[in-house]
Amino acid sequence: MPAIIEDVRARKIIDSRGNWTIEVEIITDCSAGRCAAPSGASTGVHEAMAFPEGGVDKAILEVEESIAPELRGMDAANQEEVDRILREVDGTENFSNIGGNTAVAVSLANAKAAAGACGMPLFQFLGGNLACELPYPLGNVIGGGAHAHGATDVQEFLVIPVGARSIAEAVCTNAEVHKKLGRELAKVCGVVGRGDEGAWAPAIDDARALELLSRVCEAVESETGVELRIGMDMAASQLWSEREKCYVYRREGVRRSTEEQIEHVLELIESYRLYYVEDPLQEEDFDAFAELTSQAKALICGDDLYVTSTRRLAMGIERGSTNAVLIKPNQCGTLTDTFRAVRLASNEKLTPVISHRSGETTDTTIAHLAVAFGIPIIKTGTVGGERIAKLNELIRIDEELSGRAKLAKLPEF
Ligand code: PGA
Ligand code: ZN
Repeated sequence: MPAIIEDVRARKIIDSRGNWTIEVEIITDCSAGRCAAPSGASTGVHEAMAFPEGGVDKAILEVEESIAPELRGMDAANQEEVDRILREVDGTENFSNIGGNTAVAVSLANAKAAAGACGMPLFQFLGGNLACELPYPLGNVIGGGAHAHGATDVQEFLVIPVGARSIAEAVCTNAEVHKKLGRELAKVCGVVGRGDEGAWAPAIDDARALELLSRVCEAVESETGVELRIGMDMAASQLWSEREKCYVYRREGVRRSTEEQIEHVLELIESYRLYYVEDPLQEEDFDAFAELTSQAKALICGDDLYVTSTRRLAMGIERGSTNAVLIKPNQCGTLTDTFRAVRLASNEKLTPVISHRSGETTDTTIAHLAVAFGIPIIKTGTVGGERIAKLNELIRIDEELSGRAKLAKLPEF
């Protein structure tokens, strides 16, 4: 069904950190689509530049003056062509002229307008009738690092309800962990604040966080009957000191060489039966990743390592660096590039994990992309308006699929 683009509008809105971001609306002769871009705090050095020099104001000017004139009159159903034009207008590899956030907001708004023209929700428009598997939510419940300075050294301690039987049960089990953990932390540390993604941000060390989280998971498991597993995003590029060539754990007062870091991560995987470890090593060390992955009985996921780039992902595949890849659409800038990264991962038997950013809006597009592309895990927090927006959208998609929906199959470890 053709949907001729009549207008492309951009506006400034604020994100969950209170920073300006961009929201784009694409209006066609028969539909409209809207998307807002998120932003990271612990960004990978190789990811698309979020905004051009001049910030969100410049990004909006770019939409009005360079992008809209090119897209007007085009068929929104021709997503690849829209995305090609975004790259052409920008002219750089990392979207530094228009901004990766500008590109992603235009690209995804376009997909929604095309879906709307067919009277379909985005997940169904992109995924067809096969799109009926819902992802398991992987949620951040304790955090520190760049998301809450002064809390734990590790950026995120996560939970995944691997035994859940429905998306509603999965979402609610993660929220139970967050609630109970809040009560336990209050006993130990008094008043505890939250980081950028709504996770508790206590001034405790990583070992203590893992101990507490394990106990809370056991308690929630016995109350709900839902098996839970623990994960971490170590965001190790933030721990890495290029000058000293080691990982610096400030709270613990420990420095670890690359070999020691690998040993440390393997020990944590074994001690806490970790299911998932993201960025356990710094973003340039493909070989150290490979050494860890060859020994680890867990998902080892690359975020800053790959920045959702098929080029970097291919480098990791060649070396066996990881068995999972984080997918963040605004790291690469377009829906087409996001899809290519997911397809490459799936063809090579790597598990894709779609993810929010620490600075978010109530945009729900990633929930649709997870279902459309058959991505088995979505990392999107456990509580907080901009996080539950995605989780609740999955509950709505479940309903929309009326009885056909099932949770995805997870790799076993
Ligand atoms: P960011 O962090 O959104 O702040 O980049 C999230 C992550 O590292 O996964
Ligand atoms: Zn990460």
